[in-house]
Amino acid sequence: MAGALSHWGWGFADRFPDLEARREMGAHVQALLGFAPGEPREPRPVESLSLPAPRVTPPPALAAGCDASPYARASHSYGKGYPDLLRGLRGEFRAPPDFVALPREEAEVVALLDWAAGQGVAVVPFGGGTSVVAGVETDVGAPFRGVVSLDLRRLCRVLEVDAISRAARIQAGATGPAIEAQLAPHGLSLRHYPQSFELSTLGGWIATRSGGHFATLHTRIDDFTQSVRMVTPAGILQTGRFPSSGAGPSPEHLVLGSEGTLGVVTEAWMRVQARPRFRSSAAVHFAELARGVQAVREIAQSGLYPANCRLLDAREAALHAVTADGSHVLLLGFESADHPNEEGMRRAVEIAAAHGGVCPAGPVHKSEGERTGEEGTAAAWRQAFFDAPYLWNVLVSLGLIVDTFETACTWDRFDALHEGVIARVRAAMKRACGGGRISCRLTHVYPDGAAPYYTFLAPGRPGAELEQWAEIKRAACDVLVSLGATITHHHAVGRLHRPWYERERSPLLAAALRAAKGALDPEGILNPGVLL
Ligand SMILES: Cc1cc2nc3c(=O)[nH]c(=O)nc-3n(C[C@H](O)[C@H](O)[C@H](O)COP(=O)(O)OP(=O)(O)OC[C@H]3O[C@@H](n4cnc5c(N)ncnc54)[C@H](O)[C@@H]3O)c2cc1C
Repeated sequence: MAGALSHWGWGFADRFPDLEARREMGAHVQALLGFAPGEPREPRPVESLSLPAPRVTPPPALAAGCDASPYARASHSYGKGYPDLLRGLRGEFRAPPDFVALPREEAEVVALLDWAAGQGVAVVPFGGGTSVVAGVETDVGAPFRGVVSLDLRRLCRVLEVDAISRAARIQAGATGPAIEAQLAPHGLSLRHYPQSFELSTLGGWIATRSGGHFATLHTRIDDFTQSVRMVTPAGILQTGRFPSSGAGPSPEHLVLGSEGTLGVVTEAWMRVQARPRFRSSAAVHFAELARGVQAVREIAQSGLYPANCRLLDAREAALHAVTADGSHVLLLGFESADHPNEEGMRRAVEIAAAHGGVCPAGPVHKSEGERTGEEGTAAAWRQAFFDAPYLWNVLVSLGLIVDTFETACTWDRFDALHEGVIARVRAAMKRACGGGRISCRLTHVYPDGAAPYYTFLAPGRPGAELEQWAEIKRAACDVLVSLGATITHHHAVGRLHRPWYERERSPLLAAALRAAKGALDPEGILNPGVLL
């Protein structure tokens, strides 16, 4: 089914390599990781799945925009975390949505929520379905009569551009590429590139407070969100368009991070930017990770605010084809639509050099229209970064356990946290899998702290992978929270992180959130089990 999204894994189905190619990739993986993957497994075709019969059917007025086919139901059962990919590959779809609603206009979202509240049917908002925290999973249990996955993909247009204020009104179901393609003719860009950019949507980004490519300053979607519109079972919440407002608690921040539990975001006014014309990039190599971390802290506190400031440990650098020489690599980037960045880059490289960093290829500076070739290391990283999710499909089919987790902590806690995470996750991989490999990169940095992001890979035992993964994941979450780091910097809470979020969150905040939920979603139909 060329061009269709996979019903079980990341991305487009036709990008899943054939058996022979996967065997070859298995051999590369063995050389890189030092442990042998299994014989590639085939995903169960949709036609062979036995899904439970739907318990409810769409209301007649909305039926034309709903889909109860096995493909639609299976592909809306899970997000894209490791357990999702594994269960999808195995063909385990025990609690799919009864149907998928694909509204064509906001009025249909209103009608669907009205119907669901009246029928006692749960509704799970679905953007790109790239959640890695079971945020779109439809196994919501009692007391609901059924569950609908509400897919916003048809609301995908840029509706209005205010070039004077540099803002655009964008529908929530627009994916990263759709937004950029519609803003490009105006010379504008949202410039928000999470790794899931290809498939994730504006509504999903707002609902989860996603983190994009900016490593400093404007790291999250929050910074670009001017005003939001959210349909709730109690009515429509529209916030005002202001560059900033001190009128009470920020209404946008009730919506940002609400993870589909308070309402359905249908559109938002977003702050957009002129497309960058000047770019500078550099790769700085460190023999010791700790010295790279010191350099990053000093750059984060220098007021330079580079767009990219990603420190990859040696394993991460090898995994992403950035270098195989055993060094840790700091990728630095500056970009601007207005002015060249040579001076900022020069100073950042100087700070890194004071901590032992070397920049053998020197910084590369480019302005629009200049053809200097791609910036070698940075380009290799970017390509590997966006291709990685397709590779995970393959690794899962080869029987490997592969997952990522991320966090943030203040600089004073960083060294102890990093050491604790590596030790505890290695020990858990040893217990559960006999061994494994963990790597780290700093994805976002702030004057007061950093957001480390970890990838772990371990050999799975056929049939026991979910239990093995759960033991490692539990160890990772426990160590984060016990060492004073947040349970998530940008992957959200969903159902998966809720036990640790509850340890992090004050009981008073929980009570306030419950009160807000009671006001906006009195029947409690929206995304039950997430956040609350
Ligand atoms: C390979 C990979 C890479 C990733 N990289 C990043 C990254 O770099 N940065 C990052 O922040 N995250 C990342 N993620 C996590 C995920 O992509 C983000 O959480 C993203 O914001 C989810 O967007 P989505 O449109 O796919 O939302 P979904 O996964 O469909 O939904 C996520 C949550 O938001 C709710 N929701 C979705 N749309 C709406 C709406 N319109 N109104 C109300 N609620 C809604 C859902 O109910 C759910 O709780 C990654 C995930 C994967 C699989």
